[in-house]
Amino acid sequence: MSAVEHRPVAAGLDARGAVRAPRDRVPAAPVAEARVDLGAVADNVGLVARSTDAGVMAVVKADGFGHGGVRTARAAVAGGAGWLGVTSGAEALELRAAGVTAPILCWLTAPTQDFRAVIAADVDVAVSTVPHLRSVAEDAARLSTRAVVQLEADTGLSRNGARPGDWCELVAAARRLERRGLVRVRGIWSHLAHADRPSHPGVDEQRRLFDELVGQARAGGLDPELLHLANSAAALGHPGTHYDLVRAGLAVYGVEPVAGRVFGLRPAMTLCARLINAKRVPAGTGVSYGHRYTTAAAGALGLVPLGYADGVPRAASGSAEVWVGGARRPVAGLVCMDQFVVDLGGGGAATGDEVVLFGPGDRGEPTVLDWARWARTNPHEVLTGIGGRVPRRYPRAAGAPRG
Ligand SMILES: *Cc1c(COP(=O)(O)O)cnc(C)c1O
Repeated sequence: MSAVEHRPVAAGLDARGAVRAPRDRVPAAPVAEARVDLGAVADNVGLVARSTDAGVMAVVKADGFGHGGVRTARAAVAGGAGWLGVTSGAEALELRAAGVTAPILCWLTAPTQDFRAVIAADVDVAVSTVPHLRSVAEDAARLSTRAVVQLEADTGLSRNGARPGDWCELVAAARRLERRGLVRVRGIWSHLAHADRPSHPGVDEQRRLFDELVGQARAGGLDPELLHLANSAAALGHPGTHYDLVRAGLAVYGVEPVAGRVFGLRPAMTLCARLINAKRVPAGTGVSYGHRYTTAAAGALGLVPLGYADGVPRAASGSAEVWVGGARRPVAGLVCMDQFVVDLGGGGAATGDEVVLFGPGDRGEPTVLDWARWARTNPHEVLTGIGGRVPRRYPRAAGAPRG
């Protein structure tokens, strides 16, 4: 690479015409970042824990919903989570490699995969079918040890889990393998389809079927010590679903999980950037691809260096707002892959000013829930969509656990 390509963008010329980099500018300083408040993560876990007699499993799948899996896991444990939940074995092993010793359940593995590493790392494996269970047991046998499994029942979501008609066969197979010392069934669990709807009858129907299947498992000789059914919405909104453990994802990250109810969670992530350009334009100026937006009056446009490749939903174009210069301003026109334009109006915002896409909402800035509404999706998708190009920062707040 030539020296010219190393030259900082902000370089100027000194009196003799030589290139110099201003001392106060770092060539690679991020122009956008996701700040994660780990103290809020710990507090949110505490809030969930106080709302139930059950234990709390903090769900840190998908890199902790985009907040950083290991950091979030440590903060959640500091906040009182007794369990961690992930999907793949790789996610579980990443936590173990980082020194996280809390109990972990992984619930999305393929029956054909090699389970030896997760078994050896003392990670519980969720299983839904007899072939899946056999495969885990075979790997336990190869290690001359016993695998700990949790049987998943499909009580109505029709996703993973054994259908009620296949349940007894799974229970019987598990019991046989327990007798042979190859597995131990620590838990039985299922997942709700309508937990975010405060009074949906489906929640009780699933709970009743769950009770029935647990009864069948006990009759079949199993002695599970952990029953769990609730996600965040059920942990906070459906007390009858708690059993021994609630699996909280969204709530851990501070997003209210039940429409129309406020439990006092604190959003942990603030997604912000700096304007990298600002310019004055006349009224009637078309903005971004297709000119779907036209300025109503003469004013300024600002450029934000985040786009849909960074997780800013293109579907939110036309509705979204950001916080800049102490006010909410509209996103002007289509969000592009790497950037979008904000209509600054007649305000005094300038290049270098901070733009907050979403945060806790304290100052009036939008929240993840606003973005989910604008993009017609759920807050989970907005959070997990924040791309790998956006650096995560962990400001050390007073009293926050060390990340
Ligand atoms: C993702 C997930 C959760 C967490 O759900 P939230 O609604 O984010 O609390 C809980 N259980 C299972 C099985 C999941 O896949």
